[in-house]
Amino acid sequence: MKPDIKHAAFQGTVVMVGFGCMGQAMLPLLFRHLEIQPGQVKIISRSEDKTGIAREFGVEFKVQALTEGNHEAVLEPFLKENDFLLNLSVDVSSLALMRLCWRLGALYLDTCIEPWAERYTDASISPSQRSNYALREEVLAFRRDKRAGPTAIVTQGANPGLASAFVKQALLNMAADGNLNIEKPAQHEDWAALALSLGIKTIHIAERDTQIANLRKKRGEFVNTWSVDGFVAEGLQPSELGWGSHERHWPADAARHGFGCDAAIYLGRPGAATRVRSWTPLEGSYHGFLITHGESISIADHLTLRENAEVVYRPTVHYAYHPCDDAVLSLHEVAGKNWQLQRNKRIMREEITQGMDELGVLLMGNDNGVYWYGSRLTIGQARQLAPHNTATSLQVAAGVLGGMVWAIRNPRAGAVEPDDIGFEIVLEIAKPYLGELVGVYGDWTPLLGRSPLFSEYMDKDDPWQFINFRVT
Ligand code: NAD
Repeated sequence: MKPDIKHAAFQGTVVMVGFGCMGQAMLPLLFRHLEIQPGQVKIISRSEDKTGIAREFGVEFKVQALTEGNHEAVLEPFLKENDFLLNLSVDVSSLALMRLCWRLGALYLDTCIEPWAERYTDASISPSQRSNYALREEVLAFRRDKRAGPTAIVTQGANPGLASAFVKQALLNMAADGNLNIEKPAQHEDWAALALSLGIKTIHIAERDTQIANLRKKRGEFVNTWSVDGFVAEGLQPSELGWGSHERHWPADAARHGFGCDAAIYLGRPGAATRVRSWTPLEGSYHGFLITHGESISIADHLTLRENAEVVYRPTVHYAYHPCDDAVLSLHEVAGKNWQLQRNKRIMREEITQGMDELGVLLMGNDNGVYWYGSRLTIGQARQLAPHNTATSLQVAAGVLGGMVWAIRNPRAGAVEPDDIGFEIVLEIAKPYLGELVGVYGDWTPLLGRSPLFSEYMDKDDPWQFINFRVT
C-alpha cells in the first residue's frame, strides 16, 4: 500500500473531542488518509493546545470542558447528519456522545467506553458499577434496538481495537499452520468454534513497552507513554477478565456481576495492583498488570459457544500490560501513596531515546505451542512514519484510522464493537503503521522454570489455568 493513499472521501465535519496524546497523534493521519480539508475539522478540548499542532494543521480549536450538563449545547452547533464525532478524550461519557450522535445522525468512534469524570473512583457505587463490564452493558442496552442506523464504533484503538482483529488473524494463521481445512468464519459462533478446535483456552493481550527517555522519572512524577489520567483511572478500576469455561479454581477475591452477558468476572482489587505472568517473543516472560480493558470482555463474549443456553466454550481473556519502565516506577510510587496521584504528570514524546511497543495477542492451548501475533513498532520507526507520535500512540492511531475508514464506508451499521467490524480492512489500513506485524510460536507456559516452592498454589495438570498466571 502506498504510504499516503487516501482511503475515503469525507464531505462532512469531523469533530474531535479531546486533544491529548491521541488527538495529536491522530491529526496527521486524518489529513494524510482521508480526503478532507482543514476547514472540515474542529477540535473541542478541556485544555488549550500548547503544542501548536492544531494550528500547524490549520484546524479550529475550541477550549471547553464537556460536562453532563453542557455537552449537547456545546456540540450541537458543530454536528449535523453525516458528520463524524471522534471522541479521543478522557472523562467524557461515551454513551452520552453516542446518544447525541444517534439523534443527530452523525457517525461516532471512541477508543474506550469512558464515563463522566469520577465514576471510576466513586466509592459510593459498587466495584461492579465501576467496571468496564458495566459500562459495556450500558452500551449494549443502548444498541439493542439500534442495529441499523448511523455507525458508532466503541473502543476502536489498538487495545481495545486492533486486538480483536489480531485474535481473528491469529486464529486463521494457526489454522493454516496446523493444516486445518476450514472456511473463513462468518459469525461470532464460527470464530468461537475455530478457537475451540485449535484448543485455545487462554488469550492474553500481551504488551511490553520498552520506550525509555533521556529524562528519567523524578520522585513525585507520573511518567507514561500515553494518558496518565487515563492509565491511572483504568488502573484503579477493579481488575477484570473474561472467564473461560476451562477454569477450575475460582479466585477467592472474584465476583460475578449478576447481570448482562456474564462473560467476565472482576477481582476485589484494582488492576494496577494485580499482576500476571505473560510472554512476548522479544521480551520473553514478564510480569504484567491485569488492568481492565474492554477487549477482555468483548473478545471473551464473542468467542463464547452455547448449547441449549449453557456455555460450552469460552477462553479466558485478559490484559497483561508491562508499561514502559518509568510508568512501572510511577505506579509503584502512586500505590505506596494509597493511589494519591503525584503532583506532576508527564507523557513522554520527544525525550524518548529508544525502545519499542511490542503489542499483540497471545493465544494459549494449541498443540504447536503458544502463539503471539501483533505489532513490534520502535520509536525510530514511529517517528519516520508519522509526526507527533510515539510507538504507543501510532499503534492506537492506526486502529482509529482503520475504524474511521470502516465507519465511513459502512455508515449505517449501528452501534458496533471492534469484534463486529471488518477485521481484514482494519488490519490492511493499520498495517503500514504497525512496524513488524508478526506471528511467533513459543514453548512458554506460566509454569516454565517456576521454583518448586509454593507448588501447592499451581495446577500442574493444566498450565492454562488462571491460578498459574496470577502472581500472588
Ligand atoms: P490525554 O490525557 O493525553 O488527553 C485527554 C484529552 O481529553 C485532553 O486533551 C483533555 O483536555 C481532554 N479532556 C479531558 N476532560 C475533558 C472534558 N470534560 N471535555 C473535553 N475534553 C476533555 O489522553 P490520551 O492518551 O489522548 O487518551 C485519550 C483516550 O484514548 C482515553 O480514553 C484513553 O483511554 C484512550 N486510549 C485508548 C487506547 C486504545 O488502544 N484503545 C490507547 C490509548 C488511549
